[in-house]
Amino acid sequence: MNAPKPFAVSSAIAPLIVTGAMTLREALQRLDETAGGPLMLVDSGGRLQRMITDGDVRRLILGRHQQSDGLGVLPASKPVTAGMTTSLAELGALFESTHVTAIPRLDDAGVPRVLERRDHAGPVLLSTPHLGDLEQEFVQQAFDTNWIAPLGPQVEGFERELADYSENGHVAALSSGTAALHLGLILLGVKDGDRVYCPSFTFAASANPIRYERAIPVFIDSERKTWNMSPAALERALSRDKARGTLPAAVVIANLYGQSADMDPLMALCDAYGVPVLEDAAESLGATYKGRKSGSFGALSAFSFNGNKIITTSGGGALCGDDEDMIARARFLSTQAREAAAHYEHHVVGFNYRMSNILAGIGRGQLTVLDERVARRREIFGLYRDALQGVEGIEWMPEAEGCFSTRWLTAAKFDRECGLDNRRILSGLQSVGIEARPLWKPMHRQPVFEGFEFEPHTDAKANLSVSDDLFESGLCLPSGSNMDDETVLRVCEQIRFWAEG
Ligand SMILES: *Cc1c(COP(=O)(O)O)cnc(C)c1O
Repeated sequence: MNAPKPFAVSSAIAPLIVTGAMTLREALQRLDETAGGPLMLVDSGGRLQRMITDGDVRRLILGRHQQSDGLGVLPASKPVTAGMTTSLAELGALFESTHVTAIPRLDDAGVPRVLERRDHAGPVLLSTPHLGDLEQEFVQQAFDTNWIAPLGPQVEGFERELADYSENGHVAALSSGTAALHLGLILLGVKDGDRVYCPSFTFAASANPIRYERAIPVFIDSERKTWNMSPAALERALSRDKARGTLPAAVVIANLYGQSADMDPLMALCDAYGVPVLEDAAESLGATYKGRKSGSFGALSAFSFNGNKIITTSGGGALCGDDEDMIARARFLSTQAREAAAHYEHHVVGFNYRMSNILAGIGRGQLTVLDERVARRREIFGLYRDALQGVEGIEWMPEAEGCFSTRWLTAAKFDRECGLDNRRILSGLQSVGIEARPLWKPMHRQPVFEGFEFEPHTDAKANLSVSDDLFESGLCLPSGSNMDDETVLRVCEQIRFWAEG
């Protein structure tokens, strides 16, 4: 158990906390350095006495006080405060009914722990779109040239630029990551009744397209090192299925929360058994594995540009690979499989899966800021790790050797044996308007996939599978690249509070 830390304050508010010993001159300086504070005057027990604005100090100096006088000369003034559990709605009402610009949240001892600012007090979301400067320009180009319909120069530009960035020979820009995975399975020859391996620990969109083709998913557990597909479980499943003559038609490997799976052993196994890999890189654009871009390992790879991903086209995806014919086929299938003929001639069933020229314009702008977004997501992870260093029992998602993670979402396990309860933290965060999420619920536990096989990563120390353990104990935290440091630290203080519960 963690001992409560009654005087712990986040580094976001530490410079704002002052005692009566500070002089008026120092206070003015501090207000200046902290861009107007306001400062929080506390007693020797760290308990809040009053708020101090620039105006409060200047009025004293204009009166009969010296700059060298201590803040103790300030008259008492009851501060407007909230509790650690005051909801956003209540906080909003408090801001409305008072004229203050900032309200401290006090713990039960009366110590300020979080400072809520009027212009910041909105909800904190998990991961929101973050546009750069060029998107509008590319979209405007599409309007100017009247290329509003699907297809056009922005789609071609986006495909070329994404191919370069992701170290793929060819790219088909599509309407979603799910569409990319679906076409990927079709192109790898997956048919009705085939078995397809898929991670259990992933988003349902990795597995759903297997069912679109009426193939049979076989769920493979994760390993602890990367949280992604376990090479040990994959090997066991492949060798058993080879003996039974039921090898899968394809293996879907997902790279979660911004980190590549351990591709060397996974690809070696799939190659040895002659099974093609479809890489689900929806969450790992910008990551690398042993210096090579995530999403360039599978025979085919899928990216997503959904609104919550590291870059977005509001909705979109891409199928990538080095085989030009396969990607050309993906473009053909994604535009209703129209044969080359003036009339509408169709020999196979097609799809309406192409990305529009407008959205590709947004994608081109987003690609130019991708590396900045990666850097900021990693910075946000660093802020969480550093600010929560003292809380025993938090196990951050490891960055495995050879992996460069984008930290698309900061993810962690919370150890019950240290008294941490991920569900209590989750509901606590929710109660103050901070969106966190449990880690992916394993596919082998989803009612929609009931009855399909699951291959666990056997692990002597656990009676739970790795994916079950991650789901039972983990959370992902707000990680949008447009979050400022102060907001991250506000979230940290709330995590500390609910962790100590
Ligand atoms: C987001 C996501 C997808 C699906 O992408 P969409 O563009 O939303 O269809 C697939 N797999 C994983 C792992 C994802 O996170």
